[in-house]
Amino acid sequence: MNQRTRPAASESPGGTTTPFDDLGVAVSTHEPLDHHSWLGIGGPAAYFCEPVDVQALGRVVARCHERSIPLRVIGGGSNVLVPAAGFPGLVVRLSAPSFCGIDVQRPSIQAGAGAKLVHVVSAAVQAGLSGIEMLVDVPGTVGGALVGNAGGHGGDIGERVAEVTVMLADGTLEVRDRSRLAFESRWSNLDDGVLIGCRLDLDDESPAVLTKRMQKQWIVGRSTQPTGTRTVAMMFKDPLGGTAESLVVQAGARDLRVGDASIYPVHANYVVAGPHCSSDDVRTLVETVRSRVREKLGVELTPQIEVW
Ligand SMILES: Cc1cc2nc3c(=O)[nH]c(=O)nc-3n(C[C@H](O)[C@H](O)[C@H](O)COP(=O)(O)OP(=O)(O)OC[C@H]3O[C@@H](n4cnc5c(N)ncnc54)[C@H](O)[C@@H]3O)c2cc1C
Repeated sequence: MNQRTRPAASESPGGTTTPFDDLGVAVSTHEPLDHHSWLGIGGPAAYFCEPVDVQALGRVVARCHERSIPLRVIGGGSNVLVPAAGFPGLVVRLSAPSFCGIDVQRPSIQAGAGAKLVHVVSAAVQAGLSGIEMLVDVPGTVGGALVGNAGGHGGDIGERVAEVTVMLADGTLEVRDRSRLAFESRWSNLDDGVLIGCRLDLDDESPAVLTKRMQKQWIVGRSTQPTGTRTVAMMFKDPLGGTAESLVVQAGARDLRVGDASIYPVHANYVVAGPHCSSDDVRTLVETVRSRVREKLGVELTPQIEVW
């Protein structure tokens, strides 16, 4: 029988030598990042890894620190724009089951950073725990939601975070309680490590009431968010007391287009990447819209999407 030989754990799948080969962790090279991002565009990561557990993650994180290799985590990829040149370091994705656990401990929920946010919301609603149901239509993972304090009109995740476990650059873990955490509109101070998980403190509520509230939010979200395409990203944070969408419309920027990047017709705060779109098209369109709003309305919009 012609069996393919599996690479040894210390060897990257392509057989290439990497700075991680002696760690017993599978690290691949030149991993295309387009299929890890919602926009579906962008070049490769020099190194890419989906560690099986926190010990394996600790080894690669510490190695990056020792050798000054740039490190990034990708969650659901719904808020990142990867340049065509890719990322010149290690990209980590916390997709293994050990990072995606959801554990109800009334009235709290413990969630792994790799868990999909929608799964955590569903678990809370089913358990009759309220406080995060308004996040049901936010794509991505718990890690991404914590970093950007994801939320909407009904509140944001930061309001419910009791503690966060963070992996530091040397691979050690630190548990930060509420007193060390800061959350503002679409921002948190969790920008200095790999987030491993969090505890959310919630309130008791009837599952039937919560289900109705979640469904309502879902319907409202669906009516404004892009549906039928995944190649989209939110362009700007809402400014205080207003919406980025209304500013883009008022500035007459909704019909702008760069290459194959255009504005989503139903909601002008989203950029849509067409089949021939490049990362540069998206970046230039976001900057062009921002300039137009500045010139016409004197408002400086803050980009939501993060350019790597
Ligand atoms: C259709 C659509 C609708 C959206 N609606 C909303 C909305 O209603 N409200 C809202 O707030 N946002 C919204 N967003 C933006 C986006 O979904 C959120 O910012 C989301 O929380 C990002 O999560 P993610 O897992 O996809 O993060 P990614 O895009 O993968 O990453 C975002 C950032 O978080 C970092 N990161 C991710 N995981 C970790 C980790 N474990 N440790 C350390 N750093 C980490 C990444 O390095 C990056 O810096 C929307 C986006 C789209 C495309």
